Amino acid sequence: MIFRPFATLSINARCRSTKPRAPARHDSFEGWIDNTLSGILTLLSEPPPSRGSFHERVCRTRSGMKSQSKHLILLLFALLMLAACGSGKTALPSATPRQAVIDQPTENPPTGNPGDPPSEQADVIFHNGVVLTMEQDSPRAQALAVRGEQIVAVGSDEQLLALQGPDTHVVDLEGRTIMPGFVDPHSHLFNDAGSVGMDIDQAQQKALEYGITTFADMFVTPEFLQEMQDYQQAGKLRMRTSLYLAYSTNCGDVLGDWYQEFPPTRNPGEFLRIGGVKITADGGTCGRAALSTGYPDGGYGDLWFTQDELNQAVASFQAAGYQVAIHAQGDLAIEQAQNAIEFSLGGSPNLLRHRIEHNPFARPDLLGRYSEIGIIPIAWGEYPTCAEVNDSYYSSYFGQEPMPWLEDWRAFLDANPDLPVAWHGDFPYASLDPFHHLFSYVTRQEMDEDGSICQPPEWLALHRITVDEALPLMTINAAYALFRETEVGSLKAGKFADLIVVSDDPTSIDPLEIKDLQVWMTMVGGTVEYCRPGHETFCLESPEESFATGSIEEGTSVNLALGQPVQVSQSQPDGPPENAVDGTEALWSAGADSPQWIEIDLGGPSLVEAIRLTVAQYPEGETIHRIEAAGPGESLRLLTSLEGFTKENQVLEFRPEAPLTGIARIRITTTASPSWVAWHEIEILGVPQE
Ligand SMILES: [Zn+2]
Repeated sequence: MIFRPFATLSINARCRSTKPRAPARHDSFEGWIDNTLSGILTLLSEPPPSRGSFHERVCRTRSGMKSQSKHLILLLFALLMLAACGSGKTALPSATPRQAVIDQPTENPPTGNPGDPPSEQADVIFHNGVVLTMEQDSPRAQALAVRGEQIVAVGSDEQLLALQGPDTHVVDLEGRTIMPGFVDPHSHLFNDAGSVGMDIDQAQQKALEYGITTFADMFVTPEFLQEMQDYQQAGKLRMRTSLYLAYSTNCGDVLGDWYQEFPPTRNPGEFLRIGGVKITADGGTCGRAALSTGYPDGGYGDLWFTQDELNQAVASFQAAGYQVAIHAQGDLAIEQAQNAIEFSLGGSPNLLRHRIEHNPFARPDLLGRYSEIGIIPIAWGEYPTCAEVNDSYYSSYFGQEPMPWLEDWRAFLDANPDLPVAWHGDFPYASLDPFHHLFSYVTRQEMDEDGSICQPPEWLALHRITVDEALPLMTINAAYALFRETEVGSLKAGKFADLIVVSDDPTSIDPLEIKDLQVWMTMVGGTVEYCRPGHETFCLESPEESFATGSIEEGTSVNLALGQPVQVSQSQPDGPPENAVDGTEALWSAGADSPQWIEIDLGGPSLVEAIRLTVAQYPEGETIHRIEAAGPGESLRLLTSLEGFTKENQVLEFRPEAPLTGIARIRITTTASPSWVAWHEIEILGVPQE
């Protein structure tokens, strides 16, 4: 696993996890004495820090000596109380450093808890989130830890932060959701990428951006198999990929026994796998679905095989150990596929997990047979509501009679409660975005091309399934359909760290908002494969890395902020914004609690080597300040976030690894503080570029 160091987040989180949190406000005597006592107890119980980074120092200032005499008396009182409790140790808190400097990110930050055995340390800990595990016994958690390629623990914040070691990256999810990466067991992502103007690299990138981490490509010819094997050998394959070798074309032409050279593989952890063979039993993409109800313009659609032919084909694959995936859309084809699987199993359990693909027109009398025979149905997510609502497109094409059967997954789940029914995206025949499929599963609504929502008629609305039912279809059940359920599809210790950070929790938001959910980070096997711009803190990256850098000749830097125009969220009359850039002790005060911001216009693009903030704060306590920056005409982007225990007149300095170039304005937003938000001075050190 490759990480870029980000000392600010990880060190600070260590500070928080190993020491008691200060109350947000402690105006009262009791609050203050509690805080002081806890600080002293912390100091007594911990070994001295091995080095003095900003964060350790701000942690340590918890026990720093107060300058005001009233506080000193209370502190002595607290020490006496401790002595009276029989503590043999005596330790006076050290003086608070007047000026603290943020250390540069370091490969090996100082150790946190020396008692932790190294083998327990995690590479990454995600905490303070909603973890949707897809594990029935423990469906939700707060935190998750990764080591190497694997998940090592899922649990509460407290349990998992204990796995923190010196090199652990700690990611605060800020209440966001982590869930398994989507598993799409039937797609044409790679083999049909060209039909939507993409090459394989681009298709793979898009899928990762939508949070798909495992998929199956369903139409693999000898040439395409070679192409995929070359692709993997070139080190370019980033998603777990199962290939289904084509026995016949979508028009029913048998391609021969070429597949025999390529037996299926089910080795744990393999990225590229021969999943099985694909048979196309009826029309749909070539010709028409085989429907017992007949078409309004005549005929019963296209069955490509006789029952006997299909029986013999499936039986031969069964004998050779191949999983079979049978495309069947009309009820005649579905029935034929069920019969063929039943025939080839001869009463034995379906250990090879033969599947039926699509299943849109399953007649009600066929529903129970999936469970009876043990067949895995693969069910579309997106329903074409708009085409039907706007133009009666489907009912005029297929006739009214089979319409109530069409993709009735509600009936599927009710008839097969113990079967791992699985989703499929079937890109490019439906959206690549799994959240569009989830939205359709749970609302049966669809977003039209103009962005409006097409409402389902009542009979169709009754086919809704719930989010809690749909998510397993798209993760763990789909993994089962690919023989990968012991590796991926749920978040559990020992499985691969294939997971996504999602903007919100699909199980708790209004279902109408599901279609707008965003994937902010996609991880495959412990490696971040996608990071949505602006969300770098969820991706083990420093946001600073998204800024261009330059160089400054030594000794030429000036305070670019001095006397520059300032905007603020609000001001107190006696603490105007200009005071923050006037070079004196005078302060700007918002006269209100956080969040509040102040923004300085540098008057043109500039090279910036440091940002120095002189704290104006009472009472002292935990604060969080986000520093954002932008070039001319650009929108603000997060540069860094300063978190820690701060106090009056402390100087916080942020110094990027290299000077940032083209910076025209800088905003500091205080998002947490026990005090009204204020600054004595903001200095931005650098040189103008024009
Ligand atoms: Zn397909």
